[in-house]
Amino acid sequence: MSDSNAFTMTPKDISARVLVQEHLAHEHLKNMPSIVDVGAQKKRIKRLLKQQNATLVAHYYTDASVQELTEETGGCISDSLEMARFGSQTAASTLIVAGVHFMGETAKILSPEKRVLVPTLEATCSLDIGCPADEFTAFCDAHPDHTVVVYANTSAAVKARADWVVTSGIAVKLMEHLATEDKPIIWGPDQHLGRYIAKQTGTDMLLWPGSCIVHDEFKVLGVEQLKQVYPDAALLVHPESSYAMAEIADFVGSTTQLIKAAQEMPNKEFIVATDRGIFYKMQQAAPDKLLMEAPTAGKSATCRSCAHCPWMAMNDLDKIEQVLLLGHNEIIIDPALQQQALKPLQRLMDFAAAS
Ligand code: 13P
Ligand code: SF4
Repeated sequence: MSDSNAFTMTPKDISARVLVQEHLAHEHLKNMPSIVDVGAQKKRIKRLLKQQNATLVAHYYTDASVQELTEETGGCISDSLEMARFGSQTAASTLIVAGVHFMGETAKILSPEKRVLVPTLEATCSLDIGCPADEFTAFCDAHPDHTVVVYANTSAAVKARADWVVTSGIAVKLMEHLATEDKPIIWGPDQHLGRYIAKQTGTDMLLWPGSCIVHDEFKVLGVEQLKQVYPDAALLVHPESSYAMAEIADFVGSTTQLIKAAQEMPNKEFIVATDRGIFYKMQQAAPDKLLMEAPTAGKSATCRSCAHCPWMAMNDLDKIEQVLLLGHNEIIIDPALQQQALKPLQRLMDFAAAS
């Protein structure tokens, strides 16, 4: 071709396109009509839930089909704090926790008498992976005068080493409370949430260097470019995102708080920096508003997750049906560890109930 403006693809362009095509093919396959009759499958799951006195407890990041079924069966769709609260208060004797592993563990720690099943034991979290209990324990032991505060996104063993567990929904309030005790604090594992809380409360904390692979991807540059197209859009940011994102946000909060913000803020358009699974409930709460994913592109972005948690995405109707049929994927925690992890978790629940 003689046209000097013709686009010549370099090997790098080609491999980038291959990656994009693979991603789109995967998305397309997910959207293909399933050979499973979803209506009949949902009926079977509903029957199994009733027979087993079981209830679904799902996080906002799970697939819309999982959230829809949870709604239809009177289960709970929420953030980590409310999932924990609901699980411990429901009369159901079996909890099917659709989320990631630490959420199942939290439910079991709070309700050891209940059977807690998860659709897959493989659904983990980069924060949990990045904070091995032995290394975290050694870090805490090296600073024995510090109060140890850990995010809920941790294993039972890490919780067992903590004085307090917190979730993003209550983190600032709780740290304001701890600031009155005037003791140095170790915070783990999410460095971004830790930094955000430290700035909000003026607390000096030793931070464990963990992060969430999904929220790490949101970039200021991409948001600024989108804001040029939608100058009136408000930016909603989950505090697992970088502090630079929190600084330019119109609102920062947990998943439940972000949904409330979309509902209550006067803006008609929102750029949302969290997992796109949240749109199912957010759009219900704010039906007349335009919701846009915050860009994951931009300087230094790699788009490993593209605003969707790969572990949350493992939850689906097939796995929920299987777990009810086979009773596998049960969360089992050693009783001594459960007792130890319960202490900081119960402190959180009591603090939340009193505030
Ligand atoms: P929330 O408690 O805000 O739902 O956060 C949990 C989580 O894993 C977000 O990535
Ligand atoms: Fe963990 Fe991030 Fe997935 Fe939440 S979105 S479960 S913090 S990896």
